[in-house]
Amino acid sequence: MVVSSLQTTEAPTPAYICPFDRTCSYLNQAAAELEMDDNIRVILEHPRKVVTVAIPVRLDSGKVQIFAGHRVQHCDVLGPYKGGTRYHRAVTLAELSALAMLMTWKCALLGIPYGGAKGGIAIDPAQYSDGEIERLTRRYASELIKDIGPAIDIPAPDIGTSSREMAWMMDTYSMNMGHAVLGVVTGKPLSIGGSKGRDMATGRGVMIAVREALMELGQTLEGVKIAIQGFGKVGGAAAQLLHQAGAKIIAVSDASGGVFASEGLDIPALSTHVAANKTVVGFPGGEPVTNAELLTLPCDVLIPAALEDQITEENADRIQAKLVAEAANAPITLVADQMLESRGIKVLPDILANAGGVVVSYLEWVQGQSFLFWDEKRVNREMEKLMVQAYHRVSQRSQEQGGDLRLAAYTLGVGRVAQAIRDRGLYP
Ligand code: NAD
Repeated sequence: MVVSSLQTTEAPTPAYICPFDRTCSYLNQAAAELEMDDNIRVILEHPRKVVTVAIPVRLDSGKVQIFAGHRVQHCDVLGPYKGGTRYHRAVTLAELSALAMLMTWKCALLGIPYGGAKGGIAIDPAQYSDGEIERLTRRYASELIKDIGPAIDIPAPDIGTSSREMAWMMDTYSMNMGHAVLGVVTGKPLSIGGSKGRDMATGRGVMIAVREALMELGQTLEGVKIAIQGFGKVGGAAAQLLHQAGAKIIAVSDASGGVFASEGLDIPALSTHVAANKTVVGFPGGEPVTNAELLTLPCDVLIPAALEDQITEENADRIQAKLVAEAANAPITLVADQMLESRGIKVLPDILANAGGVVVSYLEWVQGQSFLFWDEKRVNREMEKLMVQAYHRVSQRSQEQGGDLRLAAYTLGVGRVAQAIRDRGLYP
């Protein structure tokens, strides 16, 4: 049984399963594989705390607009809650609850002492001035002041937020505490305790996961054709690093559209174009391609790095890649996942493929708590070690239990959390 307030009210197609129910479905598969006590499964199915606050913001016009701000804290049995803060017009509690649960499994899978959370505000940030976004962010952090903190819940950037918003959240929290609190958020600017390597970390982790998966197939990244949907913090970094490693990035896209070049795009030139134009559209070194077309292009590896629900029962039978790496969270619907699996297409699940970000967030938090900062080489080395170990644990588990990589990753992540619940016992 799922909490009804978390279920979406929208049903785009009859087969559509809302993100929270989908994540629960994967949890249930892992629970069955682990022969888990149902008393533990029901605890894991429910977020521990859901906070919704009203955020009044004085707009530049003088008018006050109220936004709903959310923070979903799924499970803190292994340590403080951890998860991104999303500013996007499609944010819902159902989506945030699913993403918070994913964070719990992701941290557990990587062996990081955190639980899962996710926050967000339903807003299109592009429609508001920098001053309005700053007032929104500071009031949001202030409303959550008792629910966040280095030992409680540590937000990070996600879609529509960046180091800028994290700096405002850190400053707001610190002003309320009366001293600088470095560990309250991660993904901060370097000047206030950010970690070297954090900005590229999620993309670097995607590159490592793809590299390890190809290695098992007897291939290297050299010359491999890759299409990437989304050219933001994750997709942009993955494109750069994969390009540097010798892969051919044949297509990339953003919310406005995409570009394609069958022999590979010049990624440094494309990044310069994006810095000047805020979109990949119009890049002279490629032909236009739509987001829908990008997903079904002939390529070796497809990397959805934008939003949820991009590969669905509508297009799963037309995906031509041999490997799909979920850089975004939950980009494949439940039915589409089964369709890809039955066609022999290997999927690197989100809780593994995009875990590089939370690993370096953890390293940033460790550095901030100890007031001792590392060079980038050390950060990248520590992250790579955890990612490679996690990839091979998942791969080995999938061979042992006979299912796909997602079931293996869930079994490992969920299993670790369930063990911690058993060891701690039920309070009181
Ligand atoms: P971002 O805001 O930096 O970039 C998002 C990108 O997706 C942009 O290029 C945007 O134009 C594009 N996009 C938005 N709507 C689109 C649409 N309808 N079609 C195609 N493209 C669209 O966000 P991000 O931080 O790169 O996050 C991307 C995904 O990665 C999200 O699912 C996020 O939860 C996940 N993720 C992010 C991190 C992180 O460290 N930032 C870590 C783990 C997972």
